[in-house]
Amino acid sequence: MSLIVQKFGGSSVANAERVFNVAKIVTDTYKKGNKVVVVVSAQGDTTDDLIEKANEINPDASKREKDMLLAAGEQISIALLAMAIEKLGFPVVSLLGWQAGFQTSSAYTSARIKKVNTDRIEKELDKNNIVVVAGFQGINRYEDVTTLGRGGSDTSAVAIAAAMHADLCQIFTDVKGVYTADPRKIENAKMLKAISYDEMLELATLGAQVLNNRSVEMAKKYGIELEVLSSFTNTPGTIVKEAAKMEKMLISGVAKDTEVARISVVGVPDEPGLAFKMFSKLSAKNINVDIILQSIGRDGTKDISFTVAKSNAKEAAAIMEDYINTVGGKNVSVDEKVAKVSIVGAGMESHAGVATKMFEALYDAHINIRMISTSEIKVSVLINEDDADAAVKAIHAKFFDED
Ligand code: ASP
Ligand code: MG
Repeated sequence: MSLIVQKFGGSSVANAERVFNVAKIVTDTYKKGNKVVVVVSAQGDTTDDLIEKANEINPDASKREKDMLLAAGEQISIALLAMAIEKLGFPVVSLLGWQAGFQTSSAYTSARIKKVNTDRIEKELDKNNIVVVAGFQGINRYEDVTTLGRGGSDTSAVAIAAAMHADLCQIFTDVKGVYTADPRKIENAKMLKAISYDEMLELATLGAQVLNNRSVEMAKKYGIELEVLSSFTNTPGTIVKEAAKMEKMLISGVAKDTEVARISVVGVPDEPGLAFKMFSKLSAKNINVDIILQSIGRDGTKDISFTVAKSNAKEAAAIMEDYINTVGGKNVSVDEKVAKVSIVGAGMESHAGVATKMFEALYDAHINIRMISTSEIKVSVLINEDDADAAVKAIHAKFFDED
């Protein structure tokens, strides 16, 4: 007998028919003699709708009350799924986050899971129940309901799998698995059989949006193998696991991120400590800096450009304005019409020429590169936002269509 955790995203439970479809998948797994814990998200766009409702009443509502509201979405879906499972004739119990033992930090709307006390879940499994747990929520030390941040149900599922040493953790969604590029945009995108945690983390941050970042971090930390698969087709998905346990692909995927902005700080003094002081101003405000480019110094000054998330661009620019007012500098400019396109692959560590091949694809497509950054398993370029789709297409074709 195996313990299997199955997580279903909002689109998989969006209406009655889909809820029954999920009930069927769950009960089929149960019928095979497995213990099953199911984690569900709120139906369809429920969470967005709840946020809208809150904004109608009070856009400045406290985060505590926002969490009280948002947690309701998952309460609806667990009850409906449990009702569907009852109707199919199987023993089932639904549990809210706190009932399932999710203890979190006190940070409302972005709480972190501290511990899952799985006693209640275990008791229910011992009674042969299928256990349906509300994702995305827990309780903090003030005994208040908290939520984990958007897309947090993936993390709820992995946390249960880790706490209970589950044999399998399946993340059901509306795509068949993880692809080499967005399958809605790139015709020849191929589904991957397997991908490493690190590659998946890069692709998740790069906007591939199949798995929540934190869930992958947690899976990596506890060595939980994940399967990403579709709830609509009965086909095997993509396994996310340790790199050492798989054949390394040269390139696993091409991703684009248009939620970036480039900030240029021009004509600052070319002296020791400048970069340190400049970037510590940003980190003090929790602004993450990604690609950094510094020009060669001339006449005692230099230029530093960097990218941040678009949502941080205005604040970052204001901080930089303040900064050059104290140390001297010419100006600060912000460009929001940029995109980051990246290739990710565990195999590039041991292969030369991967970056060159990417640059050649961009050259062939007449796309200008504005910034470049590389790591062991990733090459990213910053380009004009209007070129982003063409860039992904050209790069994907270069790596996946030629050989
Ligand atoms: N319902 C929450 C959201 O939409 C959590 C989740 O879907 O994972 O963000
Ligand atoms: Mg959702």
